[in-house]
Formats: sequence, structure tokens, C-alpha cells
Amino acid sequence: MRPLQIPGHTARDTYRVCISRIRDGVVQQRLAALEDDAVDAAASFDRAVRATSLHALDPMVFAPGDQEDHNELLKNYTQRMAKVGTPGRPIYDELRTAPPRCPLCDHREVTTLDHHLPKSAFALLSVAPTNLVPACSDCNKMKNDTAPGCAEEETIHPYFDNLGDVQWLSAQVIEQAPAFLRFWVNTPPTWADLLAARVRYHFDVFGLAALYGAQASTLLAGIRGAVRRQLETGGAEAVCAFLEDLAGSWEEWGEHRSQPLDAGSSSGSGLQPLVLLRGLHRRLILPLYRSKVQRLRHGRDPLSASPRCRRGFGPRPDLKKSA
Ligand SMILES: [Zn+2]
Repeated sequence: MRPLQIPGHTARDTYRVCISRIRDGVVQQRLAALEDDAVDAAASFDRAVRATSLHALDPMVFAPGDQEDHNELLKNYTQRMAKVGTPGRPIYDELRTAPPRCPLCDHREVTTLDHHLPKSAFALLSVAPTNLVPACSDCNKMKNDTAPGCAEEETIHPYFDNLGDVQWLSAQVIEQAPAFLRFWVNTPPTWADLLAARVRYHFDVFGLAALYGAQASTLLAGIRGAVRRQLETGGAEAVCAFLEDLAGSWEEWGEHRSQPLDAGSSSGSGLQPLVLLRGLHRRLILPLYRSKVQRLRHGRDPLSASPRCRRGFGPRPDLKKSA
């Protein structure tokens, strides 16, 4: 769900780089003859993704009729771009390291490139830069080789879609032992129905409710002891002060870290916990703190848990939509 700049490499340049070191003259000529088709395919893809009409593209137009041609186009990616030491690998690395974290889930570390339209069915797009989206391995696996069957099934494309700063995600604390958060897409009224449907589909395809819920549970468990000690030593006011101070600290840190992280200079695993926590801060900590502070100010114990007591943030989920 994180927007990215469109890659600077053109479809033609990338294609040429990938086939530049083929020693077999027959294969080289075979692929050189397909260059214009690949460039045209990439242009058609760009137009379709902007128009949310990827589902209407005919795979037959994006795959050569000859099986050998098809196989060689797939090798352009697997053997001439993704493989270490091959001519296309520098472009692969550049695309892969552009974002600080996976733009599809906005949480995990980028480990690969995902073909927005699967190369198996759209072989002419196998090395088209705009069809190659940096992704974590989980998102890559969850999407698999699927192509959209209708406009509502077109997942958010980081190069072409930008959801802006408007809030579209809501959470609800389920106060039981242990407490957990339920996340759902709460689309703003300014969004078109199609965009709302696409975001909900994206949220489902990549399992984001489960991902955010699991991470929130871990975070809740991590702060439980500190909150309890504040309550024991200073009462409700101490807990309020602790939570508000912690929230402010997270906010400052998030603002401080945003530019270096977005610069994408590092995707090392050592950064990942920080990235994870910043994402959690935005999605969980602030609404959680607001809940706890309100609860305390109404004279209620923040650590008590009643299975029947639920406190939500934003409208309650539309159970039909989230089912
Ligand atoms: Zn991901």
C-alpha cells in the first residue's frame, strides 16, 4: 500500500541489457526479434494499469505463440536478470532495494520482485520494469501467479496507485485475555467504489488483517508489564502519563526516521525491527493509547479484561464486507 516512484529504466533498455550477453546466436536473434513486441507490451500494460483495465488484457497478446520464444522470455528474468552475476541483475537489485520495506504489506522486508501480471501468462512482460514490484517473500507467495479477473481484483500497484494520507484502516480492541486487535478496511467516503473494492481485495489477498493483528498482539504483550507497574506504583494518572509520553516518543521517532527510511539506502535485516515498530506505531500504538487513556479517565482499570466488553476505533466493521 506504499506508493513508489516509477522505475527510471525503460522497458527497451532493460530488455536489451538482459539479452546482451547471450552467446547462442540463434537465441540472441530470436529474442532480439521480440524486442519491439516486449516494448509494446509494456506500454499496453502501463496504459491498462492506469485505467484499471488489466483484467481486460488478453494474455494471448502478451505471450508469443512459439513455445521456445516463450521459454526464452521467461529466462530473461530467471537466468538473465534475477540471477546473481547476470547483466540484468543490477537493475533487479536497484528495483528491489528502492523501498525500505515491502510496499504491498508495508511491513516486511523486501526480498524479491513480484510480477504484477504473472510472467507465466504474460511472458512479454517478464522484465518490464513497471511490472516488477519489490515485495517480501510472503506477499509474493500469497499473490502467486494470479491475474485479476475483474477490475475489483486489481491489487494496488505501488508505481501507479497512491492512497494518500487519508485514513482507510481501522482497528478494534477485543478486550479478552489476551487482548488482541482486529483490523479492517474502512474506506473513506471520498473514495470511488472501485478503489474501495480494490483496497479491500488487496487487504484480503495479502492477509493484512492477520499480519497486523499478529504484530499488534506481540506489541501488546511487550508493553503489558510496563503498564501494570505504572498502575501499581502511580495509579491511573501514572499510566496515562506513561502512555502519552510513550506515544509522543514514538511519534517523534517516526517523524525523525521517515526520511532516512524512505530514502531506501538500507534494506538490511538489522533495520527491520525498527521498520516494523514504526508501522505498528501508526496502526496500533496511537489508537491503543487513546483507548487506554480514555478508559482511565473514566475511572476504569486499563488492564481489566471483560470478554463482553469491546471498544472500537472508528465505525464498527461491516461484517458482510469483511467476511
Ligand atoms: Zn509484503
